[in-house]
Amino acid sequence: MEEELLRLQKEACRDLAALQDLKDLEPFRVQYLGRKSEFTGLMRKLGQVAAEERPRLGKLANDIKVDLEERFATRKTELEEAARLEASGISTVDLTLPGRTFPIGRLHPVTQVMEEICAIFEGMGFGVAEGPDVETDFYNFEALNIPKHHPARDMHDTFYINESLLLRTHTSPMQARIMENRQPPLRMIAPGKVYRCDSDITHTPMFHQVEGFLVDRKVSFADLRGVLGVFIARMFDERTAMRARPSFFPFTEPSAEIDIACVICRGKGCRVCKQTGWLEILGAGMIDPEVFKQVGYDPEEYSGFAFGLGVERIAMLKYGINDIRLYYENDLRFLSQF
Ligand SMILES: [Zn+2]
Repeated sequence: MEEELLRLQKEACRDLAALQDLKDLEPFRVQYLGRKSEFTGLMRKLGQVAAEERPRLGKLANDIKVDLEERFATRKTELEEAARLEASGISTVDLTLPGRTFPIGRLHPVTQVMEEICAIFEGMGFGVAEGPDVETDFYNFEALNIPKHHPARDMHDTFYINESLLLRTHTSPMQARIMENRQPPLRMIAPGKVYRCDSDITHTPMFHQVEGFLVDRKVSFADLRGVLGVFIARMFDERTAMRARPSFFPFTEPSAEIDIACVICRGKGCRVCKQTGWLEILGAGMIDPEVFKQVGYDPEEYSGFAFGLGVERIAMLKYGINDIRLYYENDLRFLSQF
């Protein structure tokens, strides 16, 4: 009797665990717990057991019945829950699986350097303004003292859209656009894309510039040197030497190319600086009185300086990159290093 009860309990537990469907629950209940089940039959036979054994076996049978009913209820809840999850479409969630990592995007190195440049000048009180990529011939050239047929136009390999519209060849048009509408004192930078018909290891048809200018009474070349000195110290490092070489731009007079001591060899001479120890990083100068006249400022009262720097060039020097085209090939192995 005892053996049969224990065998039935074991079989019932095994069958219950194997149940996978709600509709199998009822047949199980009938088979093991129903009125005509083998188990109920055994309970009835208890009356024929010897009197001294009866209380012990009766208790065992009852305990097994209670146990099976509890297990049945638990399994029923589990199957109902599984059915509910399946209906809602998330039955396949395995909470023990490790989480999936998503690749994290980052800013393009040119964007990073652009933001760094803007932050340095903003720290010195410069405001930021952006202008149109499609510019008129007037703002791109004439307002900057480059009339039609001026030889300086040859320095810009311009993409013309028609007679009077073009893709801006520099961010300098913003100088005229801002000065037209505002009065000195002015301290502004204008970051953005510029376009030139040129492509090789150090040129791309589209690149980025930051134009900057300052206009006030009694502004001198020493102020220009001071502002650029602070910029170079913050962008590279405190000990980076700079020098100004005489140059020519139609919209500044005098004009200068600004060099810094080679960041690779520290001025000793190497392949990057072509053994000179110096690297050209930007063009600058005192704003030409003709430009002031165009926007209605009195050149006797106001003076100012302007500078323009290439963002890709600064980023190449900062990160030691030798081919500008790497920025635009969108190779993640390259881009993810910054
Ligand atoms: Zn060098």
